[in-house]
Amino acid sequence: MQPHLDHFRALIAERDRFCILSHIRPDGDAYGSSLGLALSLKAFGKEVSVYSEDGLLRNYLFLPGKEMVEKTPAAPPPPEVAIIAVDTSTQERLGETFVGWNRQPDVNIDHHQSNPRFGRINLVDAESPACAQILHDLIDAAGLPCPPEAATNLYVGLMTDTGSFQYRHTSAHTFEVAASLVSRGADPTAIAQRFYQSTSVESFMLKREVLAVTKFTHTNRVAHYRLTQEMYARSGARTDEVENFLEQLQVVGSVEVAFMLEEMEGGKTRVSLRSRGRVDVNQIAASFGGGGHRLAAGIRSSLPPEELEARLLEKIGQALASHGG
Ligand code: AMP
Ligand code: MN
Ligand code: MN
Repeated sequence: MQPHLDHFRALIAERDRFCILSHIRPDGDAYGSSLGLALSLKAFGKEVSVYSEDGLLRNYLFLPGKEMVEKTPAAPPPPEVAIIAVDTSTQERLGETFVGWNRQPDVNIDHHQSNPRFGRINLVDAESPACAQILHDLIDAAGLPCPPEAATNLYVGLMTDTGSFQYRHTSAHTFEVAASLVSRGADPTAIAQRFYQSTSVESFMLKREVLAVTKFTHTNRVAHYRLTQEMYARSGARTDEVENFLEQLQVVGSVEVAFMLEEMEGGKTRVSLRSRGRVDVNQIAASFGGGGHRLAAGIRSSLPPEELEARLLEKIGQALASHGG
């Protein structure tokens, strides 16, 4: 990382204007990393824009600096504006509008195993449990300020991507970063409440439907469900209100792999996969053109959902068998 870190420092010194982008269907780490870095650069006197293909989803209205998030504009920024991608495994996942800009990001800061290093400067660490952790260290290493609003955003990224400090890659250093962010003004109780105790009744109703159609296969080592547009319509929940549904399947002790297929408007199917540890779901996702991490990965596919479901069950079965099960 060292030469890249030097280049990053030089870029910060040279440029006055920055634009920060993260992945489509943004999560806590995508917004937290974007806004954390944006507020740090802003406090350093830089001019910063934060773009997202999806704009700001409602669950994240509590984030400080939220008003900075804009939908990615159709026209690319002028060349003097440095483009920074955070928490995003491939350029395509920065969104169609960004792809239309036809610009290579100047900096790619990420923690996905499958990241192909698409930036001019690449700060990618697959051992980091959240992009926000990389950013915390980077902000310190580059001598940038970290005001309370930036610390709060980075804490949101760290908390959500580690599943509240449970998932693999949560290390002693992760707790050091958390402590550093709390000492700079992040409030762990308030953030956890905003995040984990604020779902709508509609979202609860959708979760109930999802649990009712969950299937256990492969002697209960695989659990999965299909989420349809009708289920959304019946429950009244929004598409951004399904976060953490899949994790509900992982509470069953026998489940090695949990996955879900969501039939999206427009005919594509979105798949999320989670593994307890033995199966590398990043590999499975990659064989369908997706990607992610060993324990959490995703796919977007145009295959009919029935076929995708059957092929995923087969692949996962093979992966389990190869691990002696
Ligand atoms: P999700 O299931 O959407 O929470 O995604 C799990 C992980 O896989 C996240 O780190 C995503 O960035 C990554 N991921 C999800 N979908 C895709 C995809 N279609 N291509 C590459 N990576 C993905
Ligand atoms: Mn993310
Ligand atoms: Mn992340």
